[in-house]
Amino acid sequence: MTDTLVSFDDVLTSYDPALGLEVHVELNTNTKMFCGCPAVFGGEPNTQVCPTCLGLPGAMPVVNGKAIESAIRIGLALNCEIAEWCRFARKNYFYPDMPKNFQTSQYDEPICFEGFLDVDVDGEVFRVEIERAHMEEDTGKSLHVGGATGRIHGADYSLVDYNRAGIPLIEIVTKPILGAGAKAPAVARAYVSQLRDLIVALGVSEARMDQGNLRADVNLSLAPKGSGKLGTRTETKNVNSFRSVERAVRYEMQRQAAILDAGGSILQETRHWHEDTGVTTSGREKSDADDYRYFPEPDLVPVAPSREWVDELRGTLPENPLLKRARLQADWGYTDLEMRDVVASGVVGLIEETVAAGASPQSARKWWLSELGRRANDAGVDITDLQVTPVEVATVQALVDDGSLNDKLARQVFDGLLAGEGTPAEIVAARGLAIVSDEGALSAAVDAAIAANPDVADKIRDGKVAAAGALIGAVMKEMRGQADAGRVRELVLEKLTETR
Ligand SMILES: [Zn+2]
Repeated sequence: MTDTLVSFDDVLTSYDPALGLEVHVELNTNTKMFCGCPAVFGGEPNTQVCPTCLGLPGAMPVVNGKAIESAIRIGLALNCEIAEWCRFARKNYFYPDMPKNFQTSQYDEPICFEGFLDVDVDGEVFRVEIERAHMEEDTGKSLHVGGATGRIHGADYSLVDYNRAGIPLIEIVTKPILGAGAKAPAVARAYVSQLRDLIVALGVSEARMDQGNLRADVNLSLAPKGSGKLGTRTETKNVNSFRSVERAVRYEMQRQAAILDAGGSILQETRHWHEDTGVTTSGREKSDADDYRYFPEPDLVPVAPSREWVDELRGTLPENPLLKRARLQADWGYTDLEMRDVVASGVVGLIEETVAAGASPQSARKWWLSELGRRANDAGVDITDLQVTPVEVATVQALVDDGSLNDKLARQVFDGLLAGEGTPAEIVAARGLAIVSDEGALSAAVDAAIAANPDVADKIRDGKVAAAGALIGAVMKEMRGQADAGRVRELVLEKLTETR
């Protein structure tokens, strides 16, 4: 079934979009939220479990202090109030990946509330207000075996891995984001991307979207233009890259507008995002929170962080991201336009690491923005998911700087890195990419080019130095691009101007 879509421009002539973003962040604590099981990614299924995270009768949970600390630091970085006293609550529902039949979460008493994050969207600051950031635990993972789609329908049987059950999560919920208009998709992307930067700077999570450490749900509704109302929203689940966040918002705007234009109404439901086809499809109908019959968790004591501790944690916060950006721009000597491109492409952190590994800011920008940015785009992946590290980029640039490679050969090293052929040095050796600096070999190649092109050589002898390009080209071709073009030029001129 294909949805009817309205063109993006037409959506905006009739409707105001309202966005909402819910981001789950998996914390990188050593142990789980309410037990001492290791909270590491991977591991043989069902080896990192105990009576508590398996929900066995009589098991008693204990709160992970480090997770509370991380929650408070995230809240402070998002300019939130920190609750003086709050509790956990049981969110009751049945699902096979949740052995207790309830999730321990927070309901009306979140640990962090009423904050904001200022995000940079194409050089303009847009304030996203945060409603709350609360603590909860992750569920296990179901694996549906057999069947074509990997979903439960059509599967022969299902397996459950509880290693992830009980890993600490922070869920960060925005207030409805209004007034973004045509920029709604870009605001959504910028928010998730800059929230990730902040989480990474805080050091509280690996925050890798491809591994599910950071998962975004996108709420979207449309209201008649200028009405000031909120329409019925849909919630698109687990959108797993910045690019997909932007695309999912755009798609839902176009899909919902078509339904409303035709006199229909939007069903309040969860939807699935399909990365391959770029569409959302219907999930389950969803009504509001009272379904879950929340009640305060009786087995856990309330959390009451002292004001002294909160102030102490405030002192551990990283630099404000927008101020940091201004500082980096000054340090790197980028123009406003260069900095905007770098920010829009989400490569600020990558450039920072590449510069820290020894590359110049301009070379780091060149590789990440033009070369690697283009390849990520061609492959349809986020640049942060490319199999090239900042240290490798700096290493390749160092080889260019010392004359071992030129830019053209460096691009072939990146081909090798993306193909998983090893380190830059191994790729240069295996592919035979190093520049020929042997004077004897260069001199012989220049002599051969002169002999093969006597007319051109005569022109140069007559003082037409511009003709040297043809000979340099011939030598470079002969040496498969692996010669220093500047040195070849010197040799050509030496040989032809000294024999006069
Ligand atoms: Zn456990």
